[in-house]
Parts: sequence; C-alpha cells; structure tokens
Amino acid sequence: MPDQPRAEVTVDLDHIRHNVALLSARAAGAETMAVVKADGYGHGAVPVARAALSAGATWLGVASVHEAAVLRAAGITAPILAWLDVPGAQGPSDIDLSVSSVEQLARLSGRRIHLKIDTGLSRNGCPRSAWPELVAAAAASDNEVYAVWSHLACADEPGHPSVDQQAARFAEAYQVALDAGLTPRRHLANSAATLDRKDLHFDLVRVGIAMYGLNPLPYHEDLRPAMTFRSSVVLTKRIDAGESVSYGHTWTADRATSLALVPVGYADGVSRSLSGRFEVFLGGKRRPVRGRVCMDQIMVDCGDDEVLVGDEVVLFGTGERGEPTAREWADTIGTIDYEIVTGMYRSRVARSYL
Ligand code: PLP
Repeated sequence: MPDQPRAEVTVDLDHIRHNVALLSARAAGAETMAVVKADGYGHGAVPVARAALSAGATWLGVASVHEAAVLRAAGITAPILAWLDVPGAQGPSDIDLSVSSVEQLARLSGRRIHLKIDTGLSRNGCPRSAWPELVAAAAASDNEVYAVWSHLACADEPGHPSVDQQAARFAEAYQVALDAGLTPRRHLANSAATLDRKDLHFDLVRVGIAMYGLNPLPYHEDLRPAMTFRSSVVLTKRIDAGESVSYGHTWTADRATSLALVPVGYADGVSRSLSGRFEVFLGGKRRPVRGRVCMDQIMVDCGDDEVLVGDEVVLFGTGERGEPTAREWADTIGTIDYEIVTGMYRSRVARSYL
C-alpha cells in the first residue's frame, strides 16, 4: 500500500469550474482569461487551466514565458498572454507577449502583442508620457497589436476613486491607439472589477483570485474555495499541568491535556507567524495549536477528547464544515489570501485533484 502523504493540498476542480462559470456569466459579452501564473496561484497551472477552459474561459494569463511554455508542453492550445519577463524573453512563438516600452518592442518581430499602459498602478506598463511614441512604434512594426491593456490598483475597494481615474486614462490611451490607425481589443478588469464593474469588462476579463474561490470584495459572492490543506495525526501524548510546549516554551498547560502531533510546519506553508494564534479542524471541531510552529511539526491541544493516530487534520479549507480558511490565516498574520495559497507550492506537500 502506498504511504499516505504527510501533508497534502487537495484542489477541487469542480469548484474552479463553478467559479469560472460564474465569472464568465458575469462578464457575458467579454471573453474570460484564466490567470494561472505562479503555478495557478499554488493550485497547479495545468489542471486549473484545463478546468477553466472547460468551464468557459478562452484565454490563459501568466507572468513568464516559461510558464506559458509549460502550458503548451502539456498540450494546451488556447491563446496565452505572458506579461512580465526579462527583456528579450520570447518563449514559444504562439504566445502573446505584453509590451510596455519601445526597447521591449524593438526586440520583437512577427509577434502578437498587447500594449500595456500604466494608468495609475505605477508598476509594469508604459507611462502615459511615452505612450504615443510606443503606439506609433508598434503600428510601424511587423508585430500584430492585438490589444491595449492595463491593470487596476484598487478594484477590490468598491467606490475607490482611483478606479474611475484609471478607466478615464485607459480610454485616453485607447483613443491614441485608434488615432494611430490601430484597432486593438481592450482589457482592464481583474477579478474584483469583473464582479463589481460591468462597465470595465471590455473585450476580455482577467480573473485570478476569484477563480480559485477567494472573494476579493467586501460583500458576498457565490464563490467556492478550491484548495484544502490537510495532514493527519502521527502521535498523541498526554501532558501534565505545568508542562510547556514547543520551542521557547511560549505556552504552558494549566491542566492535564492530550496533544496531537501533526507533521506540518513552516517548511510546509504553515507560517511561523501563526504561532499561538490559530486552530485546526480535527475530530469534527476546531482545536487550538499550542506553542510555536516548528519547521516540520505543530502540536494540537485536544483536551480530554480521544484523538487517534491517523485522524485527518484540516489546516484550512473551504470553511463549509467550520474549518479555518486561507482568508483567516491571512487576516491573522496580516497578509492576503493570495499569498497563503500561492505559498502552498512546496516540494514535500503532495497535491491531488478532485
Ligand atoms: N492581471 C494581471 C496583470 C495580474 O497581475 C493579475 C494578478 O495579480 C490579474 C490580472 C488577476 O488578478 P486577480 O487575482 O485579482 O483576479
């Protein structure tokens, strides 16, 4: 019998399909790009891409051309946009590339490109002052300008004035492209704007976090988290009142209690910053983790309940059974759920798909 994995991420592809169908329906009239960079936000780029394409997505989005090449090597033929790589990185010739500068453009020939305008994120993208020059150079080049695009800074805060400001700048940039004789498509919306700003869908929406079932907005949406992180109990023991637990002895039992040892730690994606501040789902309920998170193990306080070696431990999941969620971890340690799930790509954490 094969060994049971000591720690495992399970990705429910039905949930991915549900979320993509919801997002595509919301963006009816536009195409949907499934953003699968960073190995599908830690969920596995190839299985997620296939699930998304089967549920209504028609495009894939990645950061690097290497990520695009992995999708092509897996036999995926859908159009792919790669938007951020070292200058001159080309990847397979049938990958669309994003271009933010004349220097970048000069390295490309015969490619399909998406011109990126910086409308206010002040990150990747051509500054507005250099935009007319880039558009003119692109129009004169032998590359096909497929689209003009940009990225929003604050779409996850509905009503934030920067969204309208960025949309206005995007409209100006598009007009410059039209005036130069180009007829590009447009894309601007991330998950939050796909859900919240129908007026910004244009020709294509680029959905990442919501496809993975994590809601970027402060109000409810029927999204289903796809990732569950689980392990199991490998040892149980009884400790007396007055005994302390884990490095630094930061927690001391005030009564005799049973501890369950779970073989996951910060090397497996359980941030050490969670120490003393989180619970796991074990034996049908949440139980506190005591003391510091170690590299490979944590200790769960089970009180007087009987917990057995082999019992399942859910670190985070959909929340449907009352288990903690990636969002809870993020809130506890002051980050975003994007970082939690993306950080789950670990060599010794197994991955399986439902
Ligand atoms: N578009 C670009 C350029 C991105 O970098 C990202 C993700 O960071 C997305 C779209 C998807 O954003 P979200 O995950 O918020 O939907």
